[in-house]
Amino acid sequence: MARSTKPMRAAFRIGKQRIEAGERRRLQLEVASLYDYTPLYLPVEVIHSRREGPALFVSAAIHGDELNGVEIIQRLLARPALSRLRGTLIAVPVVNIFGFNDKSRYLPDRRDLNRCFPGSPGGSLGSRLARLFMKEIVQRCSHGIDLHTGAVHRTNLPQVRASLDDPETEELAKVFGVPVVIHSRLRDGSLREAARKKGIRSLLFEGGEALRLDEGVIRAGLAGCLAVMRHIGMLPQLRSARTKAPPEAFVSRESFWVRAPHSGLFKLLKAAGDRVTKGEPLARITDAFGGQEKLVECPEDGIIIGHATIPPVNRGDAIVHIAGFRNLGRVKRAIDLMEELD
Ligand SMILES: [Zn+2]
Repeated sequence: MARSTKPMRAAFRIGKQRIEAGERRRLQLEVASLYDYTPLYLPVEVIHSRREGPALFVSAAIHGDELNGVEIIQRLLARPALSRLRGTLIAVPVVNIFGFNDKSRYLPDRRDLNRCFPGSPGGSLGSRLARLFMKEIVQRCSHGIDLHTGAVHRTNLPQVRASLDDPETEELAKVFGVPVVIHSRLRDGSLREAARKKGIRSLLFEGGEALRLDEGVIRAGLAGCLAVMRHIGMLPQLRSARTKAPPEAFVSRESFWVRAPHSGLFKLLKAAGDRVTKGEPLARITDAFGGQEKLVECPEDGIIIGHATIPPVNRGDAIVHIAGFRNLGRVKRAIDLMEELD
């Protein structure tokens, strides 16, 4: 029998391991040890297709208490469509393994891992973990999606944050298929900044709050990862006529927090995804008896993209996050459509 002369796709190397074309493997990268010398590992799953294509990392829990992304990755890895993958998918459901085990956003020394990039082999614990993640995962990829939630006691409408100065990144951000895309500049020490410096296009997805799972957010994030994978040619396009088009995406270049003008117990009068107009009440703040009511007015027209979820507030605490858009009516309709698709 004639043997195929087509060359095999080169193996994918990660850590000390070699993953052959056509192989799917779960592996552990050694990070550090606990005080009692118990070794700690970064869990990774690699699907290295026989067919050439992009290399995409999907990561979650860089902030250890942000769990929606962990669930999104679990569901992504269970998709039957991955049998038709082109390229290489590297899934890292828990990047900040320390914070995850502690139900904390931070590293044991209170550092924020998303300010430790690109890291260095001789730096702090966070810096070393960031360096390992960059070297073994990010730098072997052409694209990346990093999954986040709001901080503890804050919830976010599903949204994509990306640096839209690069037109291809903007296209990916819109393809993700959530209505709200926030142009956010790169921050020093963030994974997105470090990836960009290496020429890797990456998006950040945010939705829901820390330490909670939110079904609507999880579905939006999973659909977004799959849409990006189809767009960059890692998965076949959907052909079914029954497939609903995702909502249109709109870019906001300005967002701001409304802060509590008084201390007390705040009660939100609106919800994430609501359209709000200048002068209308967003929340009321009362004393413990329900008296001394004061209203918090909306300072500018916009869409609520996030808010605090814990009622006691001090004067100055950030309570409602609002994004401005050129066409608020269309953005609101797209948000309603996203909620119907849940
Ligand atoms: Zn985060």
